Amino acid sequence: MEEKACRNCKIIISHGDKCPICGEKDLTGKWSGYVIVLNAEKSSAAHMLNVKMNSTYAISIND
Ligand SMILES: [Zn+2]
Repeated sequence: MEEKACRNCKIIISHGDKCPICGEKDLTGKWSGYVIVLNAEKSSAAHMLNVKMNSTYAISIND
């Protein structure tokens, strides 16, 4: 199973071909590092990544 990241919001998706946040199909398998956001409203990591939903996000996208 290949996990993909959305180029737009960096969320990591383990299945499907569409981003659950922005609806984009612009996904890539070329990402590195990830952060798990469990408390998006209070997490400084979530703030840094500008995310509002608890999920797993890629730190960087390589292509
Ligand atoms: Zn997205």
